[in-house]
Amino acid sequence: MIIYSPSYLINDPQLYWGSVTIEGRNLAYYSRQLLTLGLEVQERIFSLKVLVAGCGALGSTLVEELARLGVGDITVVDPDLVEESNLHRTHLFTERDVGRPKAEVCSERAREINPDVRVTPVLDVVDNSNAEELIKGKDFVFDALDNVNSRLILNDACVKEGVPLIYGGVSGEYGSAMIVVPKATPCLSCFMQPSEGEDTCETVGTTPLTVTLVATVQAQLMLEALRGQVREGLIYLDSRRLSLDNVKILRNPSCEACSREEFMYLKGLRIRCGIVRTDESPPPGSPKPFVRRGKEGLLICYDKCFKKVGR
Ligand SMILES: [Zn+2]
Repeated sequence: MIIYSPSYLINDPQLYWGSVTIEGRNLAYYSRQLLTLGLEVQERIFSLKVLVAGCGALGSTLVEELARLGVGDITVVDPDLVEESNLHRTHLFTERDVGRPKAEVCSERAREINPDVRVTPVLDVVDNSNAEELIKGKDFVFDALDNVNSRLILNDACVKEGVPLIYGGVSGEYGSAMIVVPKATPCLSCFMQPSEGEDTCETVGTTPLTVTLVATVQAQLMLEALRGQVREGLIYLDSRRLSLDNVKILRNPSCEACSREEFMYLKGLRIRCGIVRTDESPPPGSPKPFVRRGKEGLLICYDKCFKKVGR
């Protein structure tokens, strides 16, 4: 049921919003946003179901921005734990969160920021075994992953299922973002190549400023799409020069995803960096998460185990 006032009330900054609701949402929270976006766009935002893949620096900023915008349903997937080295660039994490699952912390904070929003944490990686299931029924998928092989798998799943994907990447004080609308725009596989070896898993630095700029561009690309505009190409962002450029990307006629529809990465592409699935099981009765540091890296277990490699 929709209960709201005529449009003249929306334009009246003196309006008392406390009693005005859309499907149970208190419009006082959104009053300044409504003055900017209008009711039609806001209603579309309320109805959205989105996936945020990765809840590190980009993902946590995205979750915060999407919650404040009023996105109705957010699923956030990440098996990693908060580390002290994350804190400088992740808006939602504090020192007391160190050692806790990132996806759970992101979800808790998003609910505190906006109780209207339904947020679901998924403590898992994104790989070819679950990518299609994770994106099912979503209106937008946000790529906040930290390695190219995972994002090529996510790109394959989105192009195959026709779900818009909004990519974001950060390196140092540079960043990029792009929306992939299946059948309408080029995709990530048109110009990205998979990583072949562990030697490319170097740690890259960045600043909280560049991360926030890129996540904001990603969220703005969602708003642009909701207003019916489809942007083709990559946005390249240089935060040191404070410049933002549109880079033309052409559809690759031999792209394995959007041209040939082979989806070869979805059929099997090894993830070489970050967190990967492992066959190990947690010891019986162990706490969740169970964490063990070994020669090969960090083992993180919930019901299933993951290995943190390369970083
Ligand atoms: Zn393509």
